[in-house]
Amino acid sequence: MRCPFCHTQDTRVVDSRLASEGDQVRRRRACVGCGERFTTYEGAELVMPRVVKRDGTRVQFDEARLRTGMMRALEKRPVATEDVEAAISRIRQRMQALGDSEVSASTVGDWVMEELRQLDEVAYVRFASVYRSFQDVSAFREVIEGLEHGDAPFIDSGERS
Ligand SMILES: [Zn+2]
Repeated sequence: MRCPFCHTQDTRVVDSRLASEGDQVRRRRACVGCGERFTTYEGAELVMPRVVKRDGTRVQFDEARLRTGMMRALEKRPVATEDVEAAISRIRQRMQALGDSEVSASTVGDWVMEELRQLDEVAYVRFASVYRSFQDVSAFREVIEGLEHGDAPFIDSGERS
């Protein structure tokens, strides 16, 4: 590790401990050349799968975009931000569990719907109506009836646009 002060290559670790609840290792280093001390953080970089869109194009998973979509569905709903963040965190963990393989956009969409359904039924219906782009009233009714009966909704909206 190069010294940020004098750029000497030769530095040594004087202390090493876990940080961020064990997700990171914090190291105090001392430069052999100039004697300055500095801190480095080391963490595992988890590789996210690429998302395969309906037209076959591959894109990087965009967490900010996911958050925006969920927040839009949750607008003016009584759901705490920390609950939304916990849901996003679970989705991210599911993504990470896949490693660097690929995941279809519709699978991610299903995960989002599962989370929204737990958070708020109105937000769930809002998101589903946009995401599934209901072709007709009956598909929409299936979602509502699925909610009322408490079973997982199966929606066949036919060709997704
Ligand atoms: Zn130095």
